[in-house]
Amino acid sequence: MSEATAPQTGQPGATPSGAAGDPPNDVGLTIASLRAEQVLDSRGWPTVSVALTLDDGSVHEASAPAGASTGAFEAVESRDEGEEFSGRGVLKAVAGIEGEIAARLTDRRWDGIRALDDALRDLDGTPNLARLGANAVVAVSMAASRAFAHVSGVALYEWIAAQTGAQPLMPVPHFNVLNGGAHAANDLDFQEFMIAPLGLVSEEQAVRAGSEIYHALQSAVRDEFHTAGLGDEGGFAPPIANPVQALDLLVAAIEAAGYTTDQVKIALDPAANGFSLGDGNYQVGGRRLDRRELVDYYDGLLGDYPIWSIEDGFAEDDFEGWQLMFDRVGSSTQLVGDDLYVTDAARIREGAEKHYSNAALIKVNQIGTVSQTFDAIAAARENDMACMVSHRSGETIDAFIADLVVGTGVGQIKSGAPARGERVAKYNRLMSIERRQPQLQYGLH
Ligand code: PEP
Ligand code: MG
Repeated sequence: MSEATAPQTGQPGATPSGAAGDPPNDVGLTIASLRAEQVLDSRGWPTVSVALTLDDGSVHEASAPAGASTGAFEAVESRDEGEEFSGRGVLKAVAGIEGEIAARLTDRRWDGIRALDDALRDLDGTPNLARLGANAVVAVSMAASRAFAHVSGVALYEWIAAQTGAQPLMPVPHFNVLNGGAHAANDLDFQEFMIAPLGLVSEEQAVRAGSEIYHALQSAVRDEFHTAGLGDEGGFAPPIANPVQALDLLVAAIEAAGYTTDQVKIALDPAANGFSLGDGNYQVGGRRLDRRELVDYYDGLLGDYPIWSIEDGFAEDDFEGWQLMFDRVGSSTQLVGDDLYVTDAARIREGAEKHYSNAALIKVNQIGTVSQTFDAIAAARENDMACMVSHRSGETIDAFIADLVVGTGVGQIKSGAPARGERVAKYNRLMSIERRQPQLQYGLH
């Protein structure tokens, strides 16, 4: 892939231009063929892999990730529901790509990713991509984005910066080092305990800190629990149930690795859908809490631990809980909507208006296309909300989101632990970009 000099991408902090149509610097392309395959993801379940060949002979690949703690409003995957792979096969999605989608996309000129993504949505014909499958559509949209970067003669992140009008930025990685919830077999209700090197100055340093703290934590978990079993995102999954115990382990590991909690903060994704009892009630660490008690609980944790960000602290339909939390701590803590917004620009705008949160998680396959992902980021920025680009718990070695986070300049990514191939593919790509472009700033802004 070319690493040519970035084209003019607008001023720092400029509003992404995606929603207004394709920017003028797009170069058109013609797709000669589209092939798809069923491959395995990091959980060992089938997923969709696409190879898109242009008329110049170049091949552009992408693979779909898959969530486990999915939001009710996400775009819908196509799963075969047959006997193979417990119903999780994706051969229908593969056939759709090689059949209907290929027939629609090949042998004609595409002037930009938005037109191509719109054609995919029109072809699917449902609001949530349920017919062709979000796993089929997202893999094609990602491969097509790589093809547009190729014909533009720039790296993927540079093409994304040109599309969104953003200033490229090296993001703060959020390493998920302790796993619970739907991603692990322990009794920890909170899904993700992440470390975020906010106080360091480069991606390289941040990844080193992530690795060193991960290994310090590994020693502690081995010593104390005689296990180093992992959750789906590569974080440790010791047999603990209380979030406080997990936080104590994290702080000790940060310090044991020689860092301070000014340099390395903690971010949580409780993924509250997973412990919601409905009607604004929750079950945490064996206790039943109503939404007000849960706000108090989080507020207590914020007072006792160096936590800077909490994602999905409340269920996707507990709007009152989100508002109570925002009122209490929204001026000092990042509150991220994941299942709440599902990378949907309209839901993010509503969240900003109703004061649900001050940040949005960004997952391409939640909304299904790359251009709508740009729209979600644009909606957040227009409303002064931060964004964190995210992997899924089921991943492949496709590192698209590393380029996405640099090119959109949003300054935050989570891609699991600093271990396991499908997680480190993203962190390694980030370090590679930084080495080639040392002038890029590291940090949240
Ligand atoms: C998350 O909830 O933020 C997450 C990455 O998990 P999943 O991919 O299972 O939705
Ligand atoms: Mg989440």
